[in-house]
Amino acid sequence: MENKNYKGVWVFAEQRDGEIQKVSLELLGKGKELAEVLGVKLTAVLLGDNIKKIANELIYYGADEVILVEDKGLNLYITEPYTKVMTEIINERKPEIILLGATAIGRDLAPRISARIHTGLTADCTSLEIEEETNHLLMTRPAFGGNLLATIICPDHRPQMSTVRPGVMIKLERDENRKGEIIEYPCNLTPEDINIEIVEVVKEKKEKIKIEEAEVLVSGGRGIGNKENFNVLEILAKELGGVVSGSRAVVDAGWIERDRQVGQTGKTVRPNLYFACGISGAIQHLAGMEESDLIVAINKNDSAPIFEVADVGIVGDVHKIIPAVVEELKKI
Ligand code: FAD
Repeated sequence: MENKNYKGVWVFAEQRDGEIQKVSLELLGKGKELAEVLGVKLTAVLLGDNIKKIANELIYYGADEVILVEDKGLNLYITEPYTKVMTEIINERKPEIILLGATAIGRDLAPRISARIHTGLTADCTSLEIEEETNHLLMTRPAFGGNLLATIICPDHRPQMSTVRPGVMIKLERDENRKGEIIEYPCNLTPEDINIEIVEVVKEKKEKIKIEEAEVLVSGGRGIGNKENFNVLEILAKELGGVVSGSRAVVDAGWIERDRQVGQTGKTVRPNLYFACGISGAIQHLAGMEESDLIVAINKNDSAPIFEVADVGIVGDVHKIIPAVVEELKKI
């Protein structure tokens, strides 16, 4: 079938426990922009059980319409039923672009769908644009260990599919005045499609704020010296109402948990304030934090690359500067 028969931009609206994941709202922001350039509708596709009540949220964040599929078999994410339902709707409605979050679910689901519908997939994108002359989707992602950015097109097949890193795109302001249509779609799952039984879901006990959702991040690098010294970063983070994160070097050293790593192979963050303490500013680290609103860097080496992206640079020893900053904050 010809490419011109495919129309519309779709966002897979990922929900867990009836809560729409932030990355899906970010994708609606980007999807709206792409749909406007192409002059087409933005559609959110929402799968789950008993989730109708959250469909309107997707409209408030920019969707023109929501395709809603409800079934008990879609209650928790299982690869096969989700792939089957998505593939059926795509084959029937033929969107030209499909965006998914590069989350555990998105990374599992997107390649299965693309294989079933025989189209390409660009994973882990950090930028999406429409090429003016051809209307191809330009999908950009880090390549060769983050040393260059590759822009990829899918010229011959439709839909064009992409997973996008959380924290990279910007969600629109929630607007309850936005209007849209909710299309309830029949679900044709049979018991044979549900080939896995989820016996129990064990939730992570810790109630930490995710670093990609924190407004303030106090991030430590190898310059902090050792695991125990991270306590002072915890104190600074507490004073600022923030969360501690770090470079890959400190994650590899076991000084902080892996889910707190910022960078190309960690999380992409965009906080209001990013404190980089004893971090050199390797390109793979910058890839995850350079879009932060305000970057404050402390490093004893005045030519550390982190100073090239910092709004405020402090040349000095973290062990002296951080306690001094904490002391001043306590006075406020
Ligand atoms: P270093 O580069 O060792 O820097 C330590 C800094 O601390 C130095 O600038 C030093 O001047 C300063 N310092 C030392 N003592 C003090 C002191 N007392 N006071 C003040 N400053 C001090 N890295 C990431 O962070 N995230 C990623 O996602 C990531 N992904 C990668 C993916 C690939 C494929 C590869 C190849 C690498 C990746 N890296 C990543 C690793 C990255 O290249 C760097 O090695 C890493 O970011 C360095 O961490 P760092 O800045 O903590 O350590």
